Amino acid sequence: INRIIDGYNRPRRVVEFPKKNGTPLYTSEFFGENVFSLKTMAKCLPKPVYQQFVKQLRGRQVMDKNTTDSVAHAVRIWAMDRGVTHFTHWFQPQTGSTAEKHDSFLNINTTFGSNGGEIYHLDTFSGSQLLQSEPDASSFPSGGMRSTFEARGYTVWDTTSPMFIQPGPHGTSILYIPSIFISYNGEALDEKTVLLRSSEALSKAAVDLLKLIDSDPSDERPRVTHVYTTLGVEQEFFLIDRGLYSLRPDLKITGRTLVGRLPPKHQQMEDHYFGRMPTKVLSAISEAELELIKLGVPIKTRHNEVAPSQFEMAPIFEEATIAVDHNLLTMDVLHKVAHNHKLKVLYHEKPFKGVNGSGKHCNWSLSTNHGENLLDPTSTPETNYRFLLFLVAILNAVHTHSGLLRAGIASASNDHRLGANEAPPGIVSVFLGEHLTEILNAIEESRKIKTSEPHIESIKVGGTILDMKISTLSEILRDLTDRNRTSPFAFTGNKFEFRAVGSKQSPSFPITLLNSAVASSIHEVMEALLNQKGDKPSLTDDDKLFVIRKFITKTKNIRFEGDNYSENWVKEAEIRGLPNIRKSPEAFGKLLDPVNADMLIKNGIFSKSELHSRYHILLEKYVKDILIEARTLESIVKTQILPIAYEFRKSLAEGIKSLESACGKDHTEPERNIIEITTPIVVDLQKYTDSITTMLKEIGKIDDPYKQAEHTETNLLPLMEDVRSRVDSLEELISDKLWPFPKYNELLFY
Ligand code: ADP
Ligand code: MG
Repeated sequence: INRIIDGYNRPRRVVEFPKKNGTPLYTSEFFGENVFSLKTMAKCLPKPVYQQFVKQLRGRQVMDKNTTDSVAHAVRIWAMDRGVTHFTHWFQPQTGSTAEKHDSFLNINTTFGSNGGEIYHLDTFSGSQLLQSEPDASSFPSGGMRSTFEARGYTVWDTTSPMFIQPGPHGTSILYIPSIFISYNGEALDEKTVLLRSSEALSKAAVDLLKLIDSDPSDERPRVTHVYTTLGVEQEFFLIDRGLYSLRPDLKITGRTLVGRLPPKHQQMEDHYFGRMPTKVLSAISEAELELIKLGVPIKTRHNEVAPSQFEMAPIFEEATIAVDHNLLTMDVLHKVAHNHKLKVLYHEKPFKGVNGSGKHCNWSLSTNHGENLLDPTSTPETNYRFLLFLVAILNAVHTHSGLLRAGIASASNDHRLGANEAPPGIVSVFLGEHLTEILNAIEESRKIKTSEPHIESIKVGGTILDMKISTLSEILRDLTDRNRTSPFAFTGNKFEFRAVGSKQSPSFPITLLNSAVASSIHEVMEALLNQKGDKPSLTDDDKLFVIRKFITKTKNIRFEGDNYSENWVKEAEIRGLPNIRKSPEAFGKLLDPVNADMLIKNGIFSKSELHSRYHILLEKYVKDILIEARTLESIVKTQILPIAYEFRKSLAEGIKSLESACGKDHTEPERNIIEITTPIVVDLQKYTDSITTMLKEIGKIDDPYKQAEHTETNLLPLMEDVRSRVDSLEELISDKLWPFPKYNELLFY
C-alpha cells in the first residue's frame, strides 16, 4: 500500500510544447528540426559540394574526400551551434539494440616555427572522422568470424540515413552518425549492412521485372530506376510503474516475470483496447512523440492495446532502412522518456504469463522511385498484371522460404508468444482476403469471378473470360481484408503485414530475409516470363497470365484464410506439408537449410561465413537468455520465495500452538489444512529448484551449441515451468503482507 500511495503522490512531469511568440507550432513546423537533413545541408553547404553530395548519394557511390571534409565541417558548426559537444557513430550490432561511443570535437594543433613550438587546442571534425571510426569490436558478437588478432571492426557512415542530434547530459547534445559496422575484412558484423544489401537486391530485381513486363513502347510513363522497400512498424509495449518494476528482480534482469499469477480482473481485459489512455501514460508517450518528431520520425498513431497497461505506437511508413533506424530510435526515446515519468517500458514479447504478448507488426510494400506502390491494385488491367506478378512473386517467396522467415523471428522471448494461443502460430502462411482469393482462384481455374460486387466487371483476355477490371478493388480491399488478425503474414489492402515479428527485436533481420526471398523469387518469375516470351519482341497478356496462373497453383498451399489459432489449422497445415516450427533452435537451423542458405549467398546478402556466424550468434544468444532466466529463477526461489514459505508455515505453526492452548485442539483445523496443502508444494519447489541447479551444470558441459540449445529447450524450460507453477500456487496461499514481489494486479492495474 505504501508503495502505491507513494506513486500516486509523485509530482507529474510537464514539458513545454514548442511555441513561437506564445502560439503553439504546427507539428510539421518542428518536424525534423534536430536532423541534418538534405534541406539543412542545402542551406549549410556550398552549392557545388551539396550537388556533389546528392549525386554521390543517389548514385550510391563512395563520397570523395573534398565532399566529406566539407560535410564534416558544416555538420560540426550546425551541431555546435545547437550545444553539441560530442559525436558518435551509431550502429546496430547483433544484440538487438544500438551501440554508440562518444568523442568530443576537441583536437590538438601543433605548429613549429623558428621561435619554437606552439601547441593549442581547438574544435575540429574531419571528413575521415565523419566517414569512419574504429570501435573495439571484440566485445560485440561476431559468431567466431573474427580471429582475435583481427579484432578490429569499423563503423562506416551510412550516408542514406541522415545525421541527427539527441539530448545529452547537462543541457548539452550529441551528434549521431548512422553507421554500418563491418570487420577488418569487410564482413557484416551488424544488422544494417545486410538490410542495405537486401534492399539493393530487391530493388534491382524489381526494376528488372518492371523492365521486362512494361515494355510497351507506347507507354509514356517515366522509367523506373529504383524500387524502395517501404516499411511501417507498429510497436507494442507495456508501460508500468517504475517503483513497482524495481521490486521485481525477474523483470529487471530478464525483461519478463518468471513467477506470478494471473489477476482476477484478467477476464474484463477487453475493455482496454482502444480505451482512454491513463493520463500518466499519455503524458509519457506524448513527450516521446515530441522528441521523435524533432528527430524526423513521422510518429503518428498511439493507442491502448488488448492487455491492461499495454500500448502501441506507429509511424507513417518510410523507406525500410530508415524505418528500421527510426523504430530503434523510437524504442530508445520511449525508454528514456518513460524513465523521466517514473514509468518503465517493457519490450519483451511476453512479460506476463497468460496476458496478451507484444509484437511488432511490420507493414511492408514496394514503391517505385516515382512513388507508385507496386502492391496497390490499380485501376487498369495492364497494371493489374504488374500487381499480380508481384503478388505471386511474394507468395512464391513465402512458399519457398517459409522456414527462413520463421528463423528471422525466432528468439527465446518470442517463443513464448509464437504458437501460444494468441499470437500467430509457428506455421507461416499468407492471408489474402476474400476478394483477392477469389481473383486468384478464378485465374487458376480460368473462370469468371464469382462475386456479387457490382464494381467488378469481367473482361475478355486472350480467349479467356476473366474478371480483371477491378476499378474499385483498392477501396474494397482496404475495407475488407484487414480483419483476420490471426495471420502471421497478411495482405492489408496495399501492403503486407508481417505480424509475427517480436516486439523486442530489431525489424532489420526479418525484413532482410523477406527482401532477399522476394528478390530471389522475382528472378524465378522472370525466368518463367522469359520462357513464355521466347523469340517474341515482347510479352503478351496471355504470357503474363500463364505465368501468374503457374505460380498461383504452385503456391496455393501457403494461403490460408481461416483462424490461425485453431487446432484445425495445425492439423490442416500438417496435411498440406507446411512446417510448424514451434521452437527457436529448430527455426535457426532453417538458416543453413540449402534452399535458404544458397539463395542468401547467391544473392549476395550473406557470405557463407557471415551466415554461419549469424546462426551461431543466434543459438548462443538463445541459450544465454534462458540460462540467465534459469539462474534468476533459481536465485529468487532460494533467497526470497522459499524463506517466505518457511516463515509463513512457522507463523501458522505458532498460531496453531497458541490457538490450542487458548481454545483447544478442535479450533486449529483451518491452519493445519493450510500447512498440509503447502507441504507438498514446498517439497516440490525445493526439489525442482535443485534440479535446475544440477541441470545448469550439465548444460555448461555441452560443447556443441545446437545440442546445448536443444537441451535447454527440451529440458530446462519445462523444469522452469515446474518451479513456476509451485511458486504461483504459493502466491495464492501466502499472505500479501509477506509476499516479496508486487503481484500482477499491482503491476498491470496500477
Ligand atoms: P493497423 O493497426 O490497422 O494494422 P496502423 O494504422 O496502426 O494499422 O498501422 C499501419 C502501418 O502501415 C502504418 O505504419 C502505415 O504507415 C503503414 N503503411 C501504410 N501503407 C504502407 C506501405 N505502402 N508500405 C509500408 N507500410 C505502409
Ligand atoms: Mg495498429
